[in-house]
Amino acid sequence: MDPLMLDGNAVAGLLQEVFAVEMTTAIGTCNACGATDAVGALHVFRGAGIVMRCPHCDNALVTIVKGGTHVWIGFAGVRTLQVTV
Ligand SMILES: [Zn+2]
Repeated sequence: MDPLMLDGNAVAGLLQEVFAVEMTTAIGTCNACGATDAVGALHVFRGAGIVMRCPHCDNALVTIVKGGTHVWIGFAGVRTLQVTV
């Protein structure tokens, strides 16, 4: 095993800190056009789930599906997400 490699449990504290913040003011960068915007400024479409789109190029940034006691969140269209901790 690589001595520099750990499993995801090693960053549990960091992830808890990052995802327990106000997300509407987080700044996302679109993976398609490179624009940056606050999450609160994204375009949201509701259907079988939620799709959050870039207001500049319509790229699907975030998908959210909630079912029962689980939530699936995809960030396939987001290059980076900047949060204040
Ligand atoms: Zn875009």
